[in-house]
Amino acid sequence: MDYYELLGVSRTASADEIKSSYRKLALKYHPDRNKEEGAAEKFAQISEAYSVLSDEEKRAHYDRFGSAPGASMPGGDPFGGMGGMGGAGFDPMDIFEQLFGGAVGGRGRRGPARGDDIETEVHVTLEQARSGEEVEVTVDRLTECEHCHGSKTEPGGKAPVSCTTCRGAGAVRAQARTIFGVVETQQVCPTCRGEGRMVVDPCTVCHGRGRTLKSAPVKVKLPRGIDEGYRIRVAGQGNEGPGGNGDLYVHIELEPHPELRREGEHLVFPAKIGFATAALGGRIQVPTLDGPQEVEVKPGTGHGELHRLRGQGMPRLQASGSGDLIVEYDIVVPKHLNAEAREALRAYARAVGDEVPEEHEGFLGKLGKIFGRD
Ligand SMILES: [Zn+2]
Ligand SMILES: [Zn+2]
Repeated sequence: MDYYELLGVSRTASADEIKSSYRKLALKYHPDRNKEEGAAEKFAQISEAYSVLSDEEKRAHYDRFGSAPGASMPGGDPFGGMGGMGGAGFDPMDIFEQLFGGAVGGRGRRGPARGDDIETEVHVTLEQARSGEEVEVTVDRLTECEHCHGSKTEPGGKAPVSCTTCRGAGAVRAQARTIFGVVETQQVCPTCRGEGRMVVDPCTVCHGRGRTLKSAPVKVKLPRGIDEGYRIRVAGQGNEGPGGNGDLYVHIELEPHPELRREGEHLVFPAKIGFATAALGGRIQVPTLDGPQEVEVKPGTGHGELHRLRGQGMPRLQASGSGDLIVEYDIVVPKHLNAEAREALRAYARAVGDEVPEEHEGFLGKLGKIFGRD
């Protein structure tokens, strides 16, 4: 099993790419959502791959030796933390929650942990961005288990007991050998993960985790004029945690419009016109966001000339007024002309004193010469 292949990334993938790929796959194969055969196994495999590739040191070791550090040393983990891949301490759910839900047992914090912030993206059309609509996004959140109400213990089961490893303290003392000598450090208790207690009768629905992964629709109000690259914070819609909910951050992605191009607060319509219209003037249809609108082309319009429809662009974000819709003229020179059009243009050239070279001799002309007919 190649860790890079498992996560569908290249060997040169950045930390962000690895994270984002794991995130997508983990949501797809998470046992709370995917009940298909083999999904749980796949989930464990990608979690293992992520736990190695997301750690710089472990990744370097893997790249060099093709195996995770500690893989052949049961119980011995020179890097600390995970307890060796495949060892007793490895739990794919931990890997997932560290990334997605964070705060395994409130590591490094005092008091109950707040749920983590989560991120998602929403695709909006130009019309939605202009009117500032309310859109709905579906979000995967870790939410309190409905069966045990977050207590982690099966209702009616035995109450949790004090952790035997740390005697309820949540932390253990460890000695680390450094170049400065032996240093005493405090570490989160590996048995209870800092909680100080151990669940005896784990909840049968969340398997003693207290939270389950659930998809839920969340309504997001778009500010008028919102643009690509902005993100909107929706308070309290992140993961649930004993110390309160995290927030949801929604990244805005603007759908391309078939005819209009957005340039900040302005919209640009590239209008293709023939040179007769450009010279003589005429009328064209401009697709505004309120529907098609007729616009007069002034006689003598040049290529690249602009015509502004004031205030018909996008609303200014957090300000009053709107940008413009700008018609940008693109004069199209025809590639093929029929005989009538060609003759008319020659007449035009003569009328304005434009020197036009001799008519190019076509195939029929050549034939005419060969057979003595002109
Ligand atoms: Zn539960
Ligand atoms: Zn403990």
